[in-house]
Amino acid sequence: MNTEIVELNEQNIDIEQLMRAARIIVNLGTVVLPTETVYGLGANALSSIAVNKIFLAKGRPADNPLIVHVCSVKMMEDLLDEPIDLRSKKLIDAFWPGPLTLVFKRSDKVPLEVCAHLDTVAIRMPDHPIALKLIELANVPIAAPSANISGKPSPTMAQHVIQDMDGRVDMIISADRSRIGVESTVLDISSPVAIILRPGGVTLEQLQKVLGKDGVMLDNMINSVVDKPRSPGMKYTHYAPNATLQIVRGKRENIISYIKGEIQTSSTPNLIGVLCSDESKSEYQGAHVISIGSVHRLDQGAANLFAVLREFDQIGVDMIFAEAFAEDEMGLALMNRLKKAAGFNIVDV
Ligand code: AMP
Ligand code: MG
Repeated sequence: MNTEIVELNEQNIDIEQLMRAARIIVNLGTVVLPTETVYGLGANALSSIAVNKIFLAKGRPADNPLIVHVCSVKMMEDLLDEPIDLRSKKLIDAFWPGPLTLVFKRSDKVPLEVCAHLDTVAIRMPDHPIALKLIELANVPIAAPSANISGKPSPTMAQHVIQDMDGRVDMIISADRSRIGVESTVLDISSPVAIILRPGGVTLEQLQKVLGKDGVMLDNMINSVVDKPRSPGMKYTHYAPNATLQIVRGKRENIISYIKGEIQTSSTPNLIGVLCSDESKSEYQGAHVISIGSVHRLDQGAANLFAVLREFDQIGVDMIFAEAFAEDEMGLALMNRLKKAAGFNIVDV
């Protein structure tokens, strides 16, 4: 199919152009839109026909549900049968618009395909002027998973989207780089203790400030490969670069000497990539070294991760060694994506 690429400036949105995107959504087509997390592949969340096009374009398994994006609390309430409780209201007040997805009991208005036949629906309000305005103009909630081919790193730049989705969607809105750069935090609020099903742009520490230290916990499936997880998306290979990726975990000096040893004993060091921090990037002579930033700014590291994985694909290395980072604050989401990208191939040194 013919994909139209439209460039929009988020500081000064061309409403005429965005209206055309909204019309595509209303007419059950597909539009890639920028959000603060990653670029999303959007379609009318109230239409099975539209939503099926998302699964087709991405090659996404049908049992991996989609997140529905809304531009108002009213639009969210229309997707639920029951009024939301006080805790949800608190979370919405604290984090919306923003990278927090809440899982609610759904109403019959939500097509089964969106929720992969679950009785719940995942909803968030994106913190991005183009995304919000598009939803408002289309006047329907927009289902939007990351706009990558299933299994590839999520797109944080328009050029990534074009690589993956040109010819597969009706329109791509090209805008700035995604500010957060990893997907939203998915939070299950069906039990008294909220459960993080997927770490993301809102941290555990931020949620604890609102819900109390004991009011939220991490799903114990987050760091494992499982067949029947609570959040269906967790079982698939994700974010994988073409090369084999191995995470090297341990004391800083042990990590460095392990990776250096691998480079020195390799017969093809120019086919080795090293994903590291600014603090250690000068250590790995002979390999392709890409830093995700300082270990003191893992929020920026998280924002850079997917682009760095795609860069290694461009270079064409066949082995990537990645330093492990601290798993608190945004480091938790960063390491979650890195572990999935590596298929949990981790060496402790
Ligand atoms: P993506 O759209 O690629 O960011 O993936 C969305 C993720 O949200 C899915 O892979 C699931 O893990 C999670 N999710 C979506 N809907 C639900 C739901 N109803 N219950 C639990 N997790 C969900
Ligand atoms: Mg995704």
